[in-house]
Amino acid sequence: MKRHLVFLLTILVYTLSFSQLINLKGIRFNGNPPQMVIDVEGVIKPRFNIDYDEASRLLFIELPGTEAGSNFKSQVLNGNYIEKVDVVKYANSTGIFTFLNKNVNFQTSYRTDPVRLVMDFSGKGDEKEYTVVIDAGHGGKDPGAVGFNKYLEKDIVFSVANYLRNELVRDFNVVMTRSTDDFVSLAQRPRTGNKSKGDMFISIHANADQSGNGTGFEAFYFSKKSSPYAERVASFENSFGAKYGEDSSDIAQIMGELAYKKNQEESIKLGENLSSTYARKLDMKNRGVHGANFAVLRGFDGPGVLLELGFISNENDVWKLKQSKYQQLMAEEIADNIRKYFY
Ligand SMILES: [Zn+2]
Repeated sequence: MKRHLVFLLTILVYTLSFSQLINLKGIRFNGNPPQMVIDVEGVIKPRFNIDYDEASRLLFIELPGTEAGSNFKSQVLNGNYIEKVDVVKYANSTGIFTFLNKNVNFQTSYRTDPVRLVMDFSGKGDEKEYTVVIDAGHGGKDPGAVGFNKYLEKDIVFSVANYLRNELVRDFNVVMTRSTDDFVSLAQRPRTGNKSKGDMFISIHANADQSGNGTGFEAFYFSKKSSPYAERVASFENSFGAKYGEDSSDIAQIMGELAYKKNQEESIKLGENLSSTYARKLDMKNRGVHGANFAVLRGFDGPGVLLELGFISNENDVWKLKQSKYQQLMAEEIADNIRKYFY
């Protein structure tokens, strides 16, 4: 009888301890201010232990008595402050291994309403003057154009965007509108740029046509007026917004007329320089610079260009677009021109 009682008590204690685990809803990252945020379900703030190893730049956070939900995933960020985050789900606790970049300070604190554990990051004395927003087109359920041999626009442009980020972080604050293969709406992208006080917006895409004959690089800036050709490219890129449930009326609208003109001039200047050096270095056709009403450029408060790196539908262009060696070269060309623009 006594043995039975002990057995029952043990079961009870187990049940209670498991049912009382606090659910961690997810982990997310903000660009400005740079933060890692752990969202907690309910109102109880779980205890946390924190440990930092200077040599490996590994920051370990453990939250005993918690259970991580399915949105809680390891991620490679390659960001300005965090390289990657590994999440380990233990039986009664959650471990978060964060690999930081060099010269990063951090501070951890709880915020309420809703309850979340926030880690704020800052650089050690290396404040940069300008912020460049890199917008890798498409992502997640939106593949963009499907090209020759089924190469996807979203993958190629994401890869080039990452190379570009690596090129720029030494001289600029860099904000990515997406840092994973996730769907981000067209309206959200310039909003991210404005929120982070971006000084320039670079949207990266690859072109496509039915015939497979179209080839070369071209740059676009935002214009309310456009040529029939530029209008076609813009409506193709804009169509992905509508296709994936975006209502074009909720796109952030209309900057002042003066800012519009100024940004346009600056964007054209960048686009023209970039087109000529890119075409030369990559040995690709220069298709020039065009103005069109791009949803993703509209609403950004500063100069911005949308770059069509090449034609994903063209066998020769894809041969370069798919190779990391050329992707790196593309990123270098774009980065060089951004640097020339600012300095
Ligand atoms: Zn695109």
